[in-house]
Amino acid sequence: MSNSKSYKFGTKAIHAGADPDPSTGAIMTPIFQTSTFVQESPGKHKGYAYARGKNPTREALQKNIAALENAKHCLCFSSGMGSVDTVIKLLRPGDEVITGDDLYGGSYRMFTKVFANYGIKFHFINMTNASNIEKYITKNTKLIWAETPTNPTMQIIDIEACGKIAKQHNLILAVDNTFASPYLQNPLALGAHIVMHSVTKYLGGHSDVVMGALVMDDDKLYEQLAFIHNSCGATPGPMDSFLVMRGIKTLHLRMERHCFNGRKIAEFLKAHTKIEKIYWPGFTDHPNHEIAKKQMKDFGGMISIVLKGADLEETFRIASSFKVFSLAESLGGVESLINHPATMTHASIPKEERERAGVVDNLLRLSVGVEDVEDLIDDLKNVLG
Ligand SMILES: *Cc1c(COP(=O)(O)O)cnc(C)c1O
Repeated sequence: MSNSKSYKFGTKAIHAGADPDPSTGAIMTPIFQTSTFVQESPGKHKGYAYARGKNPTREALQKNIAALENAKHCLCFSSGMGSVDTVIKLLRPGDEVITGDDLYGGSYRMFTKVFANYGIKFHFINMTNASNIEKYITKNTKLIWAETPTNPTMQIIDIEACGKIAKQHNLILAVDNTFASPYLQNPLALGAHIVMHSVTKYLGGHSDVVMGALVMDDDKLYEQLAFIHNSCGATPGPMDSFLVMRGIKTLHLRMERHCFNGRKIAEFLKAHTKIEKIYWPGFTDHPNHEIAKKQMKDFGGMISIVLKGADLEETFRIASSFKVFSLAESLGGVESLINHPATMTHASIPKEERERAGVVDNLLRLSVGVEDVEDLIDDLKNVLG
């Protein structure tokens, strides 16, 4: 699809990057299950030499995701963490990163347990007020890593304000856009330089692929990241690329339903006597609701709850008793999931730090799927009483 910028989101989700196959007319992009490509004479080929560097199925997907973020470039990775790793490899020993104090557990683990050993310094700060960031900027600061909404306490970080600070101090702003998906939020338009996605989640949407993506406009940044992508090799295979392209064709439909179901369930839980606290950016009393309204199209299907007076045993009992919600890590798929961050997704964060960020033992995170919302609410009623 040429000039995809002029089309709306749903049209791009279905068509961008997915031109009919020139050799057969197949409407679906073929799965080019090959590691290498035959050359006519050394260096003379049709643009493809070796599949770590370039594969046509992956390329089609990359064009598609770039179009969804209204961007020039996209690189896909064999996992979301593979894409985070590639961004941090832009840095050198002595460089500093400013990031949030409520972060995906895997990102926190990589920053503190892998890259700290390479002499990169990370500041984990409260970013809900962006002006806080400036206090931590030194001559060595190179990168702001923002995740919004955050996992699992649904903090909202003002991307535009971060973008202004990044511009003023000549820093790179990277935004983990996994929770929002490109349907709800486009950080490049708000001043970010790099958008990161765990494609595993909403983009793939069917809990059958692990993948990551980086999206950017800047040609130089793209060249640097593409070099690391190919050099370090966390590239996804063609079958997974195909499955994600198929998943994305319904992204806009799924997101509408995730948002609809999310709102109904958030409202149900907010009024429930067993719930002490609920985190969802769509409530007008969410501390950064106005920012969420400004930078997101809707509020999504991720909700966290704190159970009133429940100890760990009671929390476990509740988490294991649902019939429609499945107890599992991950999020963003068609099926509703429930997760206990303290012992599952965020277990790698020390208890004290975790609790300071609100990830207490009686907190549960819901990824509301696209089932019929009445069945989901009945499931919650049956378990919570
Ligand atoms: C899942 C997730 C990641 C990591 O992605 P993988 O595909 O699991 O490697 C990063 N950030 C957020 C917000 C996530 O939810």
